[in-house]
Amino acid sequence: MSPPVDSIVPSEKLPSEVDVVVIGGGIIGVSTALFLARKGLTVLVCEKGRVGGEQSSRNWGWCRAMGRDFREIPLILESLRIWRGLGDMVGHDLGYRQCGILYMCETKAEMDAYGPWLEHSERYQIGSRLISPAQVQELIPGFARKIEGALYTASDGRAEPSRAAPGIARAVQALGGAVVTDCAVRTIERSGGRVSGVVTERGTVRCRAAVLAGGAWSRLFAGNLGIDLPQLRVRSSVLRTTPVEGGPETSVYGDFAFRRRMDGGYSVAHGGVSISELTPEHFTLFGAFLPAAWKERKSLRLSFGKPFFEALRTPKRWRSDEVTPFERTRVLDPAPSPRVLDEAMGRFRASHPAFANAEVAESWAGMIDVTPDAVPVISEIDTTPGFFIATGFSGHGFGIGPGAGKLMADLVAGDDPVVDPAPFRFNRFRDGSKIVLDAGF
Ligand SMILES: Cc1cc2nc3c(=O)[nH]c(=O)nc-3n(C[C@H](O)[C@H](O)[C@H](O)COP(=O)(O)OP(=O)(O)OC[C@H]3O[C@@H](n4cnc5c(N)ncnc54)[C@H](O)[C@@H]3O)c2cc1C
Repeated sequence: MSPPVDSIVPSEKLPSEVDVVVIGGGIIGVSTALFLARKGLTVLVCEKGRVGGEQSSRNWGWCRAMGRDFREIPLILESLRIWRGLGDMVGHDLGYRQCGILYMCETKAEMDAYGPWLEHSERYQIGSRLISPAQVQELIPGFARKIEGALYTASDGRAEPSRAAPGIARAVQALGGAVVTDCAVRTIERSGGRVSGVVTERGTVRCRAAVLAGGAWSRLFAGNLGIDLPQLRVRSSVLRTTPVEGGPETSVYGDFAFRRRMDGGYSVAHGGVSISELTPEHFTLFGAFLPAAWKERKSLRLSFGKPFFEALRTPKRWRSDEVTPFERTRVLDPAPSPRVLDEAMGRFRASHPAFANAEVAESWAGMIDVTPDAVPVISEIDTTPGFFIATGFSGHGFGIGPGAGKLMADLVAGDDPVVDPAPFRFNRFRDGSKIVLDAGF
C-alpha cells in the first residue's frame, strides 16, 4: 500500500569517516545533507528502508505559507524561496509549481475565523485574501460545492512527493555525499561526552556530528540515548485517482482536499479526520499533548487495538550489537482507512464535473509525527554536543523541508542561521517554558 516513490542508486560503500551522519532519508534528512554538502562538509545519509519511503512520499504535496503557526512563518518563506529554484539546484524536476491554495468556507463563521491569519499574512506580505464564490468560480470554473467564500493564497504551491526526497538525495550524491539504504543507525557513540560516531547495522562510522531526522521513529531513537523527546504518531489516509482531463490546478481544502499530480491524477484526502492509535506513550505524554488534542478534537479520532500491544512489545533500550526496531520495520506502511477515503472520494467526485468519472488508482496511509505545540524541533541537544535533532514536523514538514534542512545545516556547521532558530529549540520542552499552541491551521 506504499505510494509510488522514485528509486535512487544507493551508494555502495559505507564510508568509515565523514563530518556529519544524517539519520533518516526523508525530505528533512536529505535536505539537511544537501545544504551540508554545499558547504563543503562530507556527509552520509543512512536510511533504514527506502529514501522518501515514509511520510515524505505519502503526503499531500502541499507547500504552503497560508495558515502556518506564526513561529514557522520566516522558515516557510525561506523554504518556498528554495523550492522555486530547487529543481535547478538539484538537476531534477521535483514538481514544484506555484498553483495557489484555496480553503473553502461553508459559513460566515468559517470566513471570520481566518481573520487572525490575515494579520500575519499582511505583516509578512504573503498575500492571503478572503474571496467570494464568484471569485472562486474564476479560479475553478465549475466548482460545484455551495460555499460562502474562501481563503486564497496565490503564492502557495505544490511539489511531487514521489520525486522530491529521491531527487534531492541524488544531488547529495552528485556533490560527493553518500546515501545508503536498508541501513539502520542503531545508536551514536560518544567520546568525552561529544558525538564521535554512529553505529549502523553494517558497522561504525566516525563523525563529529549526527543529525536525527527520523520522522515518526525519532522518539524511540532518542529515548535509547536517554533523551525524552515528546512525540506521538497520527495516522492519515490518502488516495490518488486515475488521470483527469480538464481538472483545476489550484489545490483545495475543506471537508475534503485535493492536489493535482504530475501524472495527471489527483491526490485526495479527507479534510477533517486523523486517527491516533493509542499506545502506552499516549499515557506517558498525556499532559503534554492534552492542549493539542483539545484543539484538534473535531478531527482527531482515538482508536485502541493492535498498535497498543505492538508498541508495548517494542524494546525501548538496546545495545549497539543488537538488532533494533528500525531494522525490523524497513518502511512504516500503515493501512489506510477505507471509510474515511470513501467519504473523501464521494465529496471529490461531486465537487467538479471533471472529477465525476475519476477512479481510485491507489490508497495508502502515513504516520505523521507530532509534537505538543505542533512546531518541529530543529536543534542541537546540549547534553550531547554534536547530536542534533530535526523532527516533529506535525503534518507540515514537506513544504518547510528544504528550509528546515538549510537551517539544520547552518546549526551543524556553526554558521549564521538562515532564520532565528529559537522557536525550534528542544529545551522548550524541558526548561519549564509554556507550551504555546498557535491558532495556525
Ligand atoms: C498523509 C500525510 C499528508 C501530509 N501532507 C503534507 C502536506 O501536504 N504538506 C506538508 O508540508 N507536509 C505534509 N505532511 C507531513 C510531511 O509529509 C512530513 O512532515 C515530512 O515528510 C517529514 O519528513 P521527515 O524527513 O521528517 O520524515 P520521514 O519522511 O518520515 O522520514 C524519516 C526517515 O527516517 C528513517 N529512519 C528512522 N529511523 C531511522 C534509523 N534509526 N536509521 C535509519 N533511518 C531511519 C525512516 O525510515 C524514514 O524514511 C503530510 C504527512 C502525511 C503522512
